[in-house]
Amino acid sequence: MKNSRAEESLRKLMDGNERFVSRRECCPNRSLDRACAVADAQHPFAAVLGCSDSRESMEVIFDCGIGDLFVVRIAGNVCDDLVLGSLEFAAAELDVPLILVLGHESCGAVQAALQGAAPGHMAALLDAIKPAVDWAREQTGDMVDQAVRRNVRNVVTQLRESSSILDERCRRENLRIAAGYHNLHTGKVELLDG
Ligand SMILES: [Zn+2]
Repeated sequence: MKNSRAEESLRKLMDGNERFVSRRECCPNRSLDRACAVADAQHPFAAVLGCSDSRESMEVIFDCGIGDLFVVRIAGNVCDDLVLGSLEFAAAELDVPLILVLGHESCGAVQAALQGAAPGHMAALLDAIKPAVDWAREQTGDMVDQAVRRNVRNVVTQLRESSSILDERCRRENLRIAAGYHNLHTGKVELLDG
């Protein structure tokens, strides 16, 4: 990888996850002193686009703390204009070198999309996940798992195709967009290609 800042950020995330998985958490940067130290200016080392699911506590599974991660959470870790705006802010204003799009095992939003229709505004979420679900129906193996992984990859593509700011930063190697899958049972985050 040519982008050494992104490489360093990804290593910090994966090292933190390894500590979490192996029960060797340090729980860094969780004091009031840390909160005060970053109160006037934040310099998160990575951005994460993850699911709103109650089991997706990013600072816990990556063993970090206050001021470390710029986190956007939305059911199904999908992407719309507001999510894009948030991530563009992280990249362009906060200069984060890495965006990790993170899907997870047993995602309820993906399961709902596989089941079909939903009332109210939930329909919009399901629409966003639908391309991954349609693809997964044609595959062998666990359909939810296939759809979760496909959805993450779709969102990574969508971030670059929908945002000239993010795409430009990727091309200049100021930014890397990575894909990950969080196993709820083991706690482990697995990187998906790239
Ligand atoms: Zn989910």
